Amino acid sequence: MRIDILTLFPDTVGDMMNESILGRAQERELIRITAWQIRDYTASKQNQVDDYPYGGGHGAVLQADPLYRCWEAVCDEAGGPVHTVYLSPCGKTFTQKDAVRLRDSVENLILVCGHYEGIDQRFIDECVDEEISLGDFVLTGGEIPAMAVADAVARLVPGVLGDEACYTDESHWAGTLEYPQYSRPEVWHGLAVPKVLLSGNHAAVDRWRRKMSLLRTYRRRPDMYKTLRFETKQEKKLLREMEEEYGQSFDPQKLD
Ligand code: SAM
Repeated sequence: MRIDILTLFPDTVGDMMNESILGRAQERELIRITAWQIRDYTASKQNQVDDYPYGGGHGAVLQADPLYRCWEAVCDEAGGPVHTVYLSPCGKTFTQKDAVRLRDSVENLILVCGHYEGIDQRFIDECVDEEISLGDFVLTGGEIPAMAVADAVARLVPGVLGDEACYTDESHWAGTLEYPQYSRPEVWHGLAVPKVLLSGNHAAVDRWRRKMSLLRTYRRRPDMYKTLRFETKQEKKLLREMEEEYGQSFDPQKLD
């Protein structure tokens, strides 16, 4: 998979995307992440890429033309169909489902980072397939959201992580949050690791982890918990055990 990020700060983006797991995945040619300098594509002698907003108001707007020329250069290099995302607080909030969708349906992903007051709407109308937001807040630029989307998508590409279970066991894959994690030492600041994790009994560890995952989801994200359905005998038994242990109902359909 190829991911191209259009930005005014390619060095910052490059440094981050070339480290650790994603850096190694690029060395192994499983993914390719490239940051493009929008300024290199301006026709202006002063290297200008932004101008005042028509109609007045604060700040500056990234002009459509340098963005378009940069986008065209990326499309030419990609040589196949591209999917273009503009990172914007006006977009749809990004979720793990979007990361899976983009991994499964896109070969060449282009991420456009805005700055200042945003980008000229005409570039969005002509070149952008969807707008994605990182959440209901406003950042100074699209670089952090672009890196977040690139990271979330790239780590799902087969081979990037050691094993598929590395992400299918995690928060947000199957509608739950992950259980608590512990590492050495067994006691730290007087706090001991739960005994079951030291038992070597894999079935008991799995049961405990599932319970903790459900409990955490119930307490922190009732909106997610409400959508869960417990259909297998094993899951129903686990739920009964939790109800006995905590003296309350954990039936998702009884949550208001
Ligand atoms: N004037 C814009 C508005 O009110 O919607 C905000 C512009 S923001 C200061 C500059 C750039 O940061 C945006 O063009 C976008 O690329 C990026 N950005 C800011 N917040 C974001 C968010 N929550 N999700 C994705 N991108 C964001």
